[in-house]
Amino acid sequence: MLMSRDTQLPDRQGQHQTQQTDEALVLDVLEFARRNEVLERRFALSSLSRLADVLVRHEGDLTLHMQGGRDREGNWLKLEITGDLVLRCQRCLGELPWHLVVSANLRLIPPGAQWPDEDLAEDEWDPIEASEDFNVTELVEEEVLLALPLAARHEKCEAPAGADDKSAASPFAALAAIKRNQGSI
Ligand SMILES: [Zn+2]
Repeated sequence: MLMSRDTQLPDRQGQHQTQQTDEALVLDVLEFARRNEVLERRFALSSLSRLADVLVRHEGDLTLHMQGGRDREGNWLKLEITGDLVLRCQRCLGELPWHLVVSANLRLIPPGAQWPDEDLAEDEWDPIEASEDFNVTELVEEEVLLALPLAARHEKCEAPAGADDKSAASPFAALAAIKRNQGSI
């Protein structure tokens, strides 16, 4: 089961149909925030290689709504990412439709600037290091990976026949956890 999933991955590059969304979105995020810009963009799921590992289906896309702004603390980005994904249920191993809604409030730290103190970290803003050629596509992928459940399951379903109900999920859940940990470092 696992092998067949992994061996499908090299082929996914050939499956995309919407080429315009496959290029990474790279921009000067500080400038974006200073100008109070707003951007909406779709990303083909087939172009997001790290996310592809946890998806059963790679058709469709994610929609990013991104807004930049500035307040007395500095520059910020607000992201909202939505999309309809198909995950693997960790109990029955069937397809699990997943409506994704991710919001992120990010504080832009200019290169070389001092990182916020620990006591500031508990507010609603997550600090990220800004750059002139910031890869927004990677950021979107990271935010989505962090938002996905470690062990997605249908509300009601049964483990495949022959599997021990209590332990059926563990090998897959453990593998998913390892992949996520590797990806987020
Ligand atoms: Zn299930």
